[in-house]
Amino acid sequence: MKIRLAEEPQPDSIVDGEGIRTVIWTQGCNHNCKGCHNPRNT
Ligand code: SF4
Repeated sequence: MKIRLAEEPQPDSIVDGEGIRTVIWTQGCNHNCKGCHNPRNT
């Protein structure tokens, strides 16, 4: 499986979970997890 990064990793997100987190936005994911945080990018 190939996963494309949509942008540079974001080291200091405060809106994607508790506390400060590093976030990696991807494109092309085909896992189809239930409750995916950003299903438009799958
Ligand atoms: S949560 Fe969404 S992006 Fe993450 S692995 Fe599952 S389907 Fe892919």
